[in-house]
Amino acid sequence: MRRKIVAGNWKMNNDLSQTEALLNDLIAQVPQTDARVMIAPTFVNLFQAFNVLKGHNIEVVAQNMHQAEKGAYTGEVSAQMLKSVGVNTVILGHSERRAYFGEIDELLAAKVDTALANDMEVVFCFGEELEDRKAENHFAIVEAQLKNALFHLQKEDWKNIILAYEPVWAIGTGETASPAQAQEMHAFIRKIVSEAFGSEVGNNVSILYGGSVKPANAAEIFSKEDVDGGLIGGAALKAADFVAIINAI
Ligand code: PEP
Repeated sequence: MRRKIVAGNWKMNNDLSQTEALLNDLIAQVPQTDARVMIAPTFVNLFQAFNVLKGHNIEVVAQNMHQAEKGAYTGEVSAQMLKSVGVNTVILGHSERRAYFGEIDELLAAKVDTALANDMEVVFCFGEELEDRKAENHFAIVEAQLKNALFHLQKEDWKNIILAYEPVWAIGTGETASPAQAQEMHAFIRKIVSEAFGSEVGNNVSILYGGSVKPANAAEIFSKEDVDGGLIGGAALKAADFVAIINAI
């Protein structure tokens, strides 16, 4: 079902004591809300995040996982490992995974399949680079990213998919897509998903915007009809900013 969501991607930030401190600040400050609130700490702190958050409605999600069920993949983490500590949702396809770790659409399709086969929910990230937008290729790029990684799915799989449109030029740069640019792309995404899987799927999928969302711009972006929330990087590392963004939804 289409839900409002605010998800914080902590990336490679916060050691154990910093994780505990930020979680305690969030417990004290996150308001009661109908929106889903998620945080994605680094792998090694997922277990402790669940311990600290016991009884609170902040969800703990993972930033990545490997596509194989298990085996000789030194340094990697499987779906089953995530599930065994309580993680049911995983972020896949983040632009930093694509850019720095060579994650291409075909690999991401395999990761999505593995997550779904393990009854996990996926926050699937995608978005164009600056040169794509300058060349007015951004719709074609986004369509290709979605088709390559998600359009082989069955209709019923989509109940476990959350989309996160993150124009690469807006991530960690302080540049934000204007609310109108975000709405234009989100409406396009909903249209192509509806065309491929039917309007029920298209209308029910949550589409988050990510890219320099801050307390100052969140409300305007979230007010757009097809924007169902945000994937937040830098501003998720300060409880006050993250809470202000949650309040904006
Ligand atoms: C992100 O990493 O998903 C992100 C949106 O980062 P930031 O909010 O810092 O741009």
